[in-house]
Amino acid sequence: MRSSNGSVWTMSYSSDLTNEQRTLLESMFRVTSERGVEVRVVDRFLPSSKTCSGCGEVKGHLSLSDRRYSCDARGLEIDRDLNAAVNLPQWIPTENQSVRQAS
Ligand SMILES: [Zn+2]
Repeated sequence: MRSSNGSVWTMSYSSDLTNEQRTLLESMFRVTSERGVEVRVVDRFLPSSKTCSGCGEVKGHLSLSDRRYSCDARGLEIDRDLNAAVNLPQWIPTENQSVRQAS
C-alpha cells in the first residue's frame, strides 16, 4: 500500500525481499531523496487497516472483504484504504519495527 501526504510516501513490504527488489528500493530512495521526498517503508503486517485513523483503536479482526472501516469506540466510518492511507504517514516505528527514511 502506498499513500501520500505532502512530500511523504509510505509503502509496506515483506522483509523477504529479493536482490532485485532491494535494488529497486535503493533506486527509489536515491531518486526520492534527490527530489526532497521522504520515503517510509513499513512492515507489511503493520495494522494500518485495522487501526482507527480517528482515535487509534485497533480492531482484532477486519476481513479483506470489509471495504469500510467502522470504529467500534467512537463511530468513525471511513473507506478502508483511506483509513490506512491516513494512518501510514503518522506511524512512528517502535524498537522492533523497521523504517527506512530517505532524507
Ligand atoms: Zn476511532
